[in-house]
Amino acid sequence: MDQTPAERLAAHAAPYVARLPRTRAPLPLREPAAPPTESRLQALWVSRGRPTDLALPDGTPVEILDPGRWNRAPGPDFRGALIAVGGALRRGDVELHLRPADWDMHGHAGDPAYAGLILHVAWFPGPPAKTLPPAVPTLVLRPFAERQGPLDFAALALPDSPAEAEALPRPCHLRLRDDPAALDALLRAAGHYRLHAKTQRLAQALQTQSPARTLHENLFAALGYRRNAEPMRRLARELPLDRLLPLTPLRRFALLAGHAGLLHPTRDRALWDLWWQTGLPPPLQPYDWDLRALRPQNHPRRRLAGAAPLLDRLDSLLHAPLDTLAKTLVEDSRALCVPLGLKGTPIGANRAHGILLNLIVPCRLALGTLDPERLGDLPGEDLSQPMRQAWHHLTASLRALPKDGLRQQGLLQIHADFCSNPSLTCATCPLATGT
Ligand code: SF4
Repeated sequence: MDQTPAERLAAHAAPYVARLPRTRAPLPLREPAAPPTESRLQALWVSRGRPTDLALPDGTPVEILDPGRWNRAPGPDFRGALIAVGGALRRGDVELHLRPADWDMHGHAGDPAYAGLILHVAWFPGPPAKTLPPAVPTLVLRPFAERQGPLDFAALALPDSPAEAEALPRPCHLRLRDDPAALDALLRAAGHYRLHAKTQRLAQALQTQSPARTLHENLFAALGYRRNAEPMRRLARELPLDRLLPLTPLRRFALLAGHAGLLHPTRDRALWDLWWQTGLPPPLQPYDWDLRALRPQNHPRRRLAGAAPLLDRLDSLLHAPLDTLAKTLVEDSRALCVPLGLKGTPIGANRAHGILLNLIVPCRLALGTLDPERLGDLPGEDLSQPMRQAWHHLTASLRALPKDGLRQQGLLQIHADFCSNPSLTCATCPLATGT
């Protein structure tokens, strides 16, 4: 009997599934957590438990592509690290302290051993170091490491020595470096696995609701990013398509923003009046938006301005050519920029690619309108830190990174299942041993 598209997708993912680690221990959390020592902080820095999605206090993103070689001799704690600050690559040394001002107390200023410093890392926030070279940023790690709660260093599987931590070139690279076909097959299978998982999640929703409603709710959630995904999803549920689609995009935006509590009665007078004309009462519970230190381009109000005109195009998202779809999303999201006086693009190219890969492609796969054999043609997105890190581990290089969406999804999956899995080490990694 012929396989369904979902079964073919699962079959493509099967070689990857066979490699997955058998257990994935949750990060050990405990309340209250004891503060780390500098030595444990260094071990975290070099381990796969190091947090990702890092940023400087001013919001500049920081990617750790290689934490560097752990140095127990005098001088910086890590030598030869490779990081990207705001997208600009830097190679050099890294020094870690419990608090930013420890740099001053330890008297490192003027020490030539620290001349190659590119990053200062502190666990706790605090007053900045006074003698740190101005070109060296300080990254405060704790808020990122404890996103899910207090981190118990004593319970983490951290390396005890530089020798234990030293894993470059990584064993997966040593195993795959002479077999590019095996590396490519691994990336493709991992990509199929990731898209299959996304497809399964959407297939469940599609069993009980229409494709348009599924797209509407998940589009809004995607535009809320991690912090505001739930209020955005709630908004889509409280203002369904049959209430929004009869309105013009401008009135639709006014209704969405007004209902969500994102309009000011005097500064947004005209939009406020449009909202009241809809006759919809305000919600019983106010919306719980997380707007702390939010970049203006990620503000939910701006995202709603981009989403309002897109709601007219939901059907076309299920049929339009994939190679130009992200570009179309970006362009169509601009429809309200002039009337609302918005500069720039409410939905940028990277977010549009994310919507394509996380929502539209899985939705089409679940509906059977996209052939799994075509996934190798998926357009790629901007390379993220986990993608680059996984590629660096697998190939010991940052050259010739995959440009297509399927292999990029594979890199993300390998990073999640193996390289950032706190219950694995490189020595026990199934991708290193081939078992
Ligand atoms: S955890 Fe596995 S895939 Fe990741 S670097 Fe180590 S050996 Fe390679």
